[in-house]
Amino acid sequence: MWQRHLDRDDSKIVDLFSGQLRSSLHCSVCSHYSNTFDVFCDLSLPIPKKSDYGRTVTLRECLDLFSQEEKLDKENSPMCERCNRHTESTKRLTIQRFPRILVMHLNRFTMSRYSISKSTVPVSFPLNGLDLGPFGPVDCGPVLYDLYAVCNHSGTVNMGHYTAACLEEEGWLFKEEKLQSNQAYVLFYELKSFNVTRK
Ligand SMILES: [Zn+2]
Repeated sequence: MWQRHLDRDDSKIVDLFSGQLRSSLHCSVCSHYSNTFDVFCDLSLPIPKKSDYGRTVTLRECLDLFSQEEKLDKENSPMCERCNRHTESTKRLTIQRFPRILVMHLNRFTMSRYSISKSTVPVSFPLNGLDLGPFGPVDCGPVLYDLYAVCNHSGTVNMGHYTAACLEEEGWLFKEEKLQSNQAYVLFYELKSFNVTRK
């Protein structure tokens, strides 16, 4: 699938930013597994609803929620290839191919039927050694990323302001507490090391 994608779209941008997601579907009637693969340039991560007020959410919890098994009822399920009809199934997203530059978008804006609201929940994220191995193929080992830039959004749904903090040669110009604010919106990580073969 990845080769097929490169045949259509191969560029420096793809080399840097494109990864591949695997969506595995498991039919609850016949237990058949099927996989589909999609190219991504960024991951849009849901922010878990905070149960206790004042608690910081971690990036890991957002990733867990992103990759959590999702139950699909008959109406929302794709056709099971084996049953040849729509059945109850479960779906899970994992990263099949890790991009060199991983862009993660913290989905702070939620749309309800009549309005859009912005979440200002603080999400803590590691500056170094973010391990995405647990979200990759089975037994892929640690896949480590280091943060090199953060894009912040301050303001409301209707008006706001974007700022960025980037890692310079001499280090971050901000203190870590300042980087980890509840305005962090898009995180830019660079792949440091991995054991998976990239084809
Ligand atoms: Zn089935």
